[in-house]
Amino acid sequence: MGKGKKQKEWAIWLKIEMHVGTASIEGSGKGTGYVTTVLEDGRRVNTPVGIVRGKENGPVLYAQAAQHGMEINGVVAIEKMLQLLKPELLRGTFIGVPVANPLALVQRRPHYGLGPEEPYGNRPRLNMNRIWPGSPNGSEVERLAHNLWEQAVQKADYVIDLHSYERWSASCTIVSSKKKSLELAKAFGLRFISVSTNKKELELLEEPWKMISEAVEDMGASALVAELAGQWDIYPKSVKEGTRGIINVMKKLNMLDGEIISPPSYVYLGKDPCTRVSMDRDGLFLASVEPGDDVEKDQQIAKIIDMLNICEVDLRSPVRGIVYHLGPSGPNRDVQLPRMHPFLDKGSEVAVIYES
Ligand SMILES: [Zn+2]
Repeated sequence: MGKGKKQKEWAIWLKIEMHVGTASIEGSGKGTGYVTTVLEDGRRVNTPVGIVRGKENGPVLYAQAAQHGMEINGVVAIEKMLQLLKPELLRGTFIGVPVANPLALVQRRPHYGLGPEEPYGNRPRLNMNRIWPGSPNGSEVERLAHNLWEQAVQKADYVIDLHSYERWSASCTIVSSKKKSLELAKAFGLRFISVSTNKKELELLEEPWKMISEAVEDMGASALVAELAGQWDIYPKSVKEGTRGIINVMKKLNMLDGEIISPPSYVYLGKDPCTRVSMDRDGLFLASVEPGDDVEKDQQIAKIIDMLNICEVDLRSPVRGIVYHLGPSGPNRDVQLPRMHPFLDKGSEVAVIYES
């Protein structure tokens, strides 16, 4: 690009104002504010938003977390990004919404309005990640989503939506099979990638629901979802995976300088060969390695405390591979406390190991 053209672009960039709710940046800089949503009963909900606008033109990246109120690793990851990013080192704009669903976070539930220990899937209309792009006169979450969509998401070229699976599975990215989104997921740099292919089935539903990632792709932008392992608490390793992932994506998009930190290989969940390991007795399950760890064949991956015989028995990996899941595998273990208990029944699945 010629010097004159670049200077002209620079002059235009400085004049353009970026605003999301009450957060507003003219030219380059950093700022925070709120997107305000008025609920049907007149209550006002402020969704905090941060903007970092670089000194040079570039794409708009929108990142959000905590659509589900007990998935909070991403909240910290985005908060850290808003602290870390320096406008003078950035090309383009980063819009960060640490808590997309403040109502659910304050209630400490997956969805606003769910009962204690009630499963995610019980009342799908309460699930914020099923109703995008929301509605101005709809339910609480439809209104929250609508305002974020109108004021922030629509301005984005790329979207990162941070969630958290339970703590016994490794972090992973979930992405559609669209080439651009898949490239983004690979750049994010988590080892495990889940490529969703069920869009066709969804189209057959009478009332098709939409995740933010799907609504974003329908608008022509690219999106990825990252599940940063561990709910109900802040897991430092997962927070780091989140910040590293966002920085990696920004490097990929040429918003930041530097090398992308990639895993040694990618594992495609549900596609690559894996081995499932079950308990051969009742007992307390005590893990010796972590999800995401590489293990050798016959390596001890857990101990089972056999209470009947008062002894410890080693559980060994039948293959060389990468541990994806290690721990309880029953339904609703993400919301129900007894399901999180490490007493596991004989025959229950306790590990999923992808072969390497
Ligand atoms: Zn979630």
